[in-house]
Amino acid sequence: MFTAICPHCGLYQTEKQVRFAGGQGIARCMACGGEYAYRALPLFIVLGASGTGKTTLALRLQREQDRIIVLDGDLLWRQEFLGEGNAAFFSVWMNMALNISQCGKPVLLTMGGMPDDFLNNPQARFFPAIHVLGLCAQEEDLAARLRARPSWRNSASEEFLESMLRYNAAVRQLDPALDTSGRDERACAQEIMDFVQQRV
Ligand SMILES: [Zn+2]
Repeated sequence: MFTAICPHCGLYQTEKQVRFAGGQGIARCMACGGEYAYRALPLFIVLGASGTGKTTLALRLQREQDRIIVLDGDLLWRQEFLGEGNAAFFSVWMNMALNISQCGKPVLLTMGGMPDDFLNNPQARFFPAIHVLGLCAQEEDLAARLRARPSWRNSASEEFLESMLRYNAAVRQLDPALDTSGRDERACAQEIMDFVQQRV
């Protein structure tokens, strides 16, 4: 397991110097200079608004392939994470992904957020690469999908809808971005796997 605790001096410290060599990351404790190695695998992020198909595609990828470990960011969401750009939420997930990838497979997270939420997070230093794919949908399509959701998901309020449409428009500008409107679920899942396989 990879933790912020130095195995040499026992200090809890997230700020470490990291270098990469031969598929390993080598983290150096800033206090005692002690080093320890871990498996350094890329992190994959599929991000996009609610209703673009993240959860559906995550389920399908979990079922149909075993090259990467696919996890839905909603699993760990709590109201307590709200504030300061939800940075603590991204930190928890990236730390989880780092630890899970010590089994030798990369992790793919499906989440909200923008690339900088991951790339600028202090945990980013532990990954040799972070690859982000945007998931978007046509506006009218997205609005219809969100309005059709059961009311307990609180997705149909106009305020929520507008925030999702704004976010969706921002994600569309990302490169690469995958528009799921009118697309077969299987084809979208394949496109995500192509995105991964080109970068592993
Ligand atoms: Zn130390």
